[in-house]
Amino acid sequence: MLTGPALSRFRKKLLEWFSEFQRDLPWRHSKDPYRIWLSEIMLQQTRVVAAIPYYELFLEHFPDVKTLALAPKEQVLRLWAGLGYYSRARNLQKAARQIVKDHDSRFPEARESALALSGIGPYTAAAILSIAYGQKLAVLDGNVARVIARLNAKRGDLRAGSRWQKLQKIADGLLAPNAPGDWNQAMMELGATVCTPRSPRCLLCPVAEFCQARKLGLTDVIPEKRVKRATEKITLAALVMVDPWGRTLLLPPPKSGANPLATHDVPALLSRMWHFPTIHVHGDAVQELREFVKGTIFTGQDFRSRLQPLPKVRHAVTYRQITLLPFRLGIAKLPRVPHAKVLPLADLSDVPVSNLTRKTARAATP
Ligand code: SF4
Repeated sequence: MLTGPALSRFRKKLLEWFSEFQRDLPWRHSKDPYRIWLSEIMLQQTRVVAAIPYYELFLEHFPDVKTLALAPKEQVLRLWAGLGYYSRARNLQKAARQIVKDHDSRFPEARESALALSGIGPYTAAAILSIAYGQKLAVLDGNVARVIARLNAKRGDLRAGSRWQKLQKIADGLLAPNAPGDWNQAMMELGATVCTPRSPRCLLCPVAEFCQARKLGLTDVIPEKRVKRATEKITLAALVMVDPWGRTLLLPPPKSGANPLATHDVPALLSRMWHFPTIHVHGDAVQELREFVKGTIFTGQDFRSRLQPLPKVRHAVTYRQITLLPFRLGIAKLPRVPHAKVLPLADLSDVPVSNLTRKTARAATP
């Protein structure tokens, strides 16, 4: 662990490098805690290039915490659609409402109050509070942990046992007390652009002289690869009804009683958003789909022979590999289903839908 003059030189080198080489990202133009918070939430599990258009679109519609708090939930989810991990959007709005109600519409400065907000953990709290308010809190995410592990030649799974806490202690010790926000961003930037998971660019690294892993030739083995969770394969079948006007029927997100056709685990796989009637398939997809809708969507009709199989839709969410079998059913009149919505198949933008539902609609659109 660095101390004394070596630590001062390390901080100086990294901060100078950051000041010269940092990427020009939209959220770096502001110290507004709302904007920083929004960017931090969007960047969880999402690459910077993918997050930027969503960030800008969100700010156009919700320029401050109050507009976000007052917006209909459906609108928030619609603008988030495509970014994935929708619980982030739900928590974001929940937290916005907490901030308006309990903190006079301003992101709280106290760490404990920040941690009490929905969707805010130690990393996000440290990032927002250091960047927006200059608080001396060091961030530790995957990028920063990798940099610290390599600098100190710490081997093993970084998240195992008490290793994460030890890395946090080292991160706390490295933090530049006069510029905590820039410091945190510099560490993250180094991990994202130079000290990358594979093939770190050590020749361009501003702190290479301090790096133990480089000295010992261990940059390729630190950090140790995590044991991946086994892949779970799931097959779904969806019914895409289309009337002569090109309209289809979508079921609502599961809310108590609002969707009588929701089958246990399926809504979670569809990100708890609007979706086609969908089932989890264990054998004959057509037979199971038919049984599912018989007596609920349709009474007494046998539409089996009119089901047109469409190209499979494949989708991956974390460790799950989903294969969705869509079936198109041309129909003179869409059935009446409580709480369902009738929309043009070619444009589902009126309601929030998951990527999987969007892909299914594309497969069914001639
Ligand atoms: Fe990472 Fe290489 Fe810099 Fe060490 S020298 S911190 S491994 S980029």
